[in-house]
Amino acid sequence: MITSKVDNVELKSWKTILKQSYLSWDDLLKYLKIRTEDVSGLNILESSFPLRVTKQYASRIEKGNLEDPLLKQVLPITLEERFNPLYSIDPVQEIGTKQQPNILINKYQGRALMVATGSCAIHCRYCFRRHYPYSEKIGEKKISSALDELATRKDINELIISGGDPLILDDSKLEKILEVASSYSHIKRIRFHTRVPVVFPERVTPGFLQTISSYSPLLVIVTHINHPNEIDTNVAQAMNLIRNQKIVLLNQSVLLRGVNDNIDALLRLSHKLFEVGILPYYMHVLDKVAGAAHFDLPRSTAQLLQTKLQELLPAYLVPRFVEEIPGQPSKTSVI
Ligand SMILES: *Cc1c(COP(=O)(O)O)cnc(C)c1O
Ligand code: SF4
Repeated sequence: MITSKVDNVELKSWKTILKQSYLSWDDLLKYLKIRTEDVSGLNILESSFPLRVTKQYASRIEKGNLEDPLLKQVLPITLEERFNPLYSIDPVQEIGTKQQPNILINKYQGRALMVATGSCAIHCRYCFRRHYPYSEKIGEKKISSALDELATRKDINELIISGGDPLILDDSKLEKILEVASSYSHIKRIRFHTRVPVVFPERVTPGFLQTISSYSPLLVIVTHINHPNEIDTNVAQAMNLIRNQKIVLLNQSVLLRGVNDNIDALLRLSHKLFEVGILPYYMHVLDKVAGAAHFDLPRSTAQLLQTKLQELLPAYLVPRFVEEIPGQPSKTSVI
């Protein structure tokens, strides 16, 4: 057992590192050696979804490159403000499926999705939950009552712990959720959806690994990586540590205009995922969220890319290209 003292030190250190993230575009651009006046359409206004970028993620952005595929995912631009009636604040109609004022989303057949926190280590401009009403803090009470509800839901066999990003929570909070959920005989799998091991690999501490190791037979971790440049040696190391706990690792991506909408990037992504022990799972077509229209692509581009990947890769390295259709209890394939 790791003593609580050691745990506290760890806790402090990852949280301290996370606090050093970039929270303003001028600091980030200064670090990237990009002059503000060179960025056309930079959104300098305060937003309800402000810039947030970890130092680790920023270090993988090419200096001076305004077209960098990682930079595009995080830099707020004025195009986000352009109104488009086809893009809404709740594109997957999640807010409406929340039962009571609780945090358990019951949309997918046999699976319950727990919004365990509203916070993330990074703010992705295309995020479909960018308008989600997170303002009310998700406290232990809400988590407890979601777990109580799960106890009665014998039709649910998998708990998906999502957010925000669940790995923003302390190990003790994760432990509580894992301990309770795994004690229910009807829960066969517990899945984390997280971008943290990618954008903030420092979070993969010995304490975290110990927390998840006891539950590893039930666990699946779905990472979120869109571009091969997001994977560096630190990420590889974090993934290796997680894999050493015998935990299944899958990846989901979002198809984004100007980021990964080309066959070369997608091929390299699949190869690199495999190298670090992750299998591609989903390639999401963008959810039509207000503020992200400029990332969207015609359906035909998604179909073309999927066909091409199928020609060039073994099936296990080809993500399923899917879309989320509001009201549907599962994903819909784009072909
Ligand atoms: C689709 C989706 C799920 C459920 O995923 P499945 O793998 O189809 O069970 C959970 N969370 C998010 C954010 C999703 O988009
Ligand atoms: S980490 Fe995930 S939930 Fe958080 S902003 Fe990015 S896409 Fe959205």
